Amino acid sequence: MQRQPYQLSGRVSPFAMLFVPFGALFVFGIGFLHGYATVHNPVFGVGSLLLALFLGYLNGWATAWIGRLGHCRNRIVLGSLGAFLATLGLYVSWSTALSISFKGMRAVSPLEVWFGISAPAHWFLMLFDVAQHGWPAHFHHRPQAPMLWLFWLVEWVLVAGLAGMRAAGCRRVYCEACHGWIEDPKSFYLAPPEEDAVDLEALGDVHWAYINQLEPVINVNLQTHVLVSVFQCPDCHRQGAMALDLGLPSANVRRGMDVDYRPVVALTPLTEDDLSAVAELEETQRARRAAAADAAPCSPWLSDARLAAADRRGGETL
Ligand SMILES: [Zn+2]
Repeated sequence: MQRQPYQLSGRVSPFAMLFVPFGALFVFGIGFLHGYATVHNPVFGVGSLLLALFLGYLNGWATAWIGRLGHCRNRIVLGSLGAFLATLGLYVSWSTALSISFKGMRAVSPLEVWFGISAPAHWFLMLFDVAQHGWPAHFHHRPQAPMLWLFWLVEWVLVAGLAGMRAAGCRRVYCEACHGWIEDPKSFYLAPPEEDAVDLEALGDVHWAYINQLEPVINVNLQTHVLVSVFQCPDCHRQGAMALDLGLPSANVRRGMDVDYRPVVALTPLTEDDLSAVAELEETQRARRAAAADAAPCSPWLSDARLAAADRRGGETL
């Protein structure tokens, strides 16, 4: 059976708007710094694009933060707000860069930039002047006019697009009954006993009878495993969502052992059946962990409870 994807309700609390001015203030700050960085950036092109990505990401992050504090459960609103704030940030950044280009590096203060952005007509005149004559000599780079327009367009698309995506894309679950975010998921790292292969079909169907007979993973870096993430409301215990991921350990030359998580079931709302199955899963896993602790002494090298259990079984047959 195909599970429905989890979706936020789409509601926007009017309270959220209270936080927008704080976001705008933050955006003004990073826009100003971005303007400075743009002027000092020695590598036109790659360096400028990296700066644009950084500005877009920070803006998106700030918007997501506003959405969290303001209980905004609408991704379209979050995405648009992210793109809008990013545009504002870029406007401040350009204003800073333009002011520096006309008045010199040292003569520009945030207050001046503030007046600059509150006079868009003046700002546009400066922009057109730069587009026509190139940046003044104290800039590290002086691209030509058509290239500048194209570059500004690419920069804006990058910054606004990334900010919108970052703001709208965060994985969050909300309990509409208790009016609160469900913050951290309960995570269960499970693996089939005896190194069996993971039954992807059973996982895809969220077959709880199968999931419940899996055992706790001993080392996530060594075993192929299933990660069950359950977002369950801590107050009513009735609302929430869950996701299933397959964890594949891989050796990475630079970082050593690493686990690559592939989604098997994307975030989906918790049903009544899921709720009782999760309770049962918690209970079995607790019992299994207790049993594993009893199986001591384990090997101090491997700290592998299962190895110790196998050892004991071997001892019995001999
Ligand atoms: Zn709740």
